[in-house]
Amino acid sequence: MRKFESILSAMSSPDARTTQTGDLHFPKNPSEARERFRRAAEPTGAKLSTRLLPSDKASTPTEELSIEIAELDPGRERLLVLTSGVHGPETPAGSRIQEEFFLHHARRLHEQGWGILAIHGINAWGFLHGRRNNSRNVNLNRNFSLDPATFQTRNPGYERLRDFLEPTTPLISVEAEALRLASGIAWRLARGEMSRSDLAIAAGMGQYQFPTGLSYGGSGPEPETQIVAEFFQKHLVGERDRVVAIDLHTGLGSRACLHAILSDGPSARGMEPMRRRLASVLKTGEIEITPTDTAGFYKTTGDMNDFAANFCRQAREAICVTAEFGTIGADGLNQFRTLLMFIAENRGHTRGYRRLADAERLKRLNRELFDPQDRLWQDRVLLRGLTLIEKLTDN
Ligand SMILES: [Zn+2]
Repeated sequence: MRKFESILSAMSSPDARTTQTGDLHFPKNPSEARERFRRAAEPTGAKLSTRLLPSDKASTPTEELSIEIAELDPGRERLLVLTSGVHGPETPAGSRIQEEFFLHHARRLHEQGWGILAIHGINAWGFLHGRRNNSRNVNLNRNFSLDPATFQTRNPGYERLRDFLEPTTPLISVEAEALRLASGIAWRLARGEMSRSDLAIAAGMGQYQFPTGLSYGGSGPEPETQIVAEFFQKHLVGERDRVVAIDLHTGLGSRACLHAILSDGPSARGMEPMRRRLASVLKTGEIEITPTDTAGFYKTTGDMNDFAANFCRQAREAICVTAEFGTIGADGLNQFRTLLMFIAENRGHTRGYRRLADAERLKRLNRELFDPQDRLWQDRVLLRGLTLIEKLTDN
């Protein structure tokens, strides 16, 4: 596999960008992403398959919603798993990394003895409709569990703040929502009713009681989760040397920094091997290991990395990591912006918009937040994603 450190250090030179990443742009819609993924994976000899997702009343019957899967000798002693598109608008970055990986790196890794499992565009409905959640308002990254107990998890902070986070009337305007939110937060902080981290946990951790609410995790495994489970069950279970499972996301964090996140569940055992394998790149600030209690981040239930880690408990070494590429920065203002987007978009989607123009505007803002069109950001994300794969699969 190509060494990326020299490329990374050359990234400050603008000329380096276009030559290293080629002219391929990030895919713009599910059918383009799907086609490109298949075209890139097929020549490697990977077995391709498609799982159709049920459409529902919110999508027209002609829409083809599917998850694509590529399997290249996944039964080997070493297995790399790459998943993308758990949150709809975050699909382009993950899809592009998977494409580039198959175009230029998969063969080499395969020759070195690795098996590969790639699952592409998991929340196809969300990508098509510009939503992080699926067609049933489920945040799939709170839904990855086959344990009924997960879906009984209580989030008392959400219950307490529900009226504030989930108003039952249509969205008036983004500005009005920003004002309502800012004054509501200031009031509650001043009265000591909550802390900033209470708010982040309430809104972000996941809740399983209110289907129209924020971070709703569902009442059982969603169809997308069941498809992922099918392939994890088939290929991750059993004794083997190593598993590296990388789930690709965008959103939280310093701009273009790759935040490697493990939870404190079963995926936590990957922390030491991950730290060791990433040691040479951590100094650069391009890739960071980010604990879930860092400001702006939060612990979650039903997430992909613990889900994957549960399946590969018998592997000698398992690194199951969320790779989150920062888009706008993680300072207080941007944390507020992100929360505002979650709340306003959810309110508009579930309760309607007073003005239709706000629906389009929120879609645009959502795209900026999760799928920046800035070419430099895209090039950095691509290189850092490939660097992460390279480092974690080093001998
Ligand atoms: Zn995400």
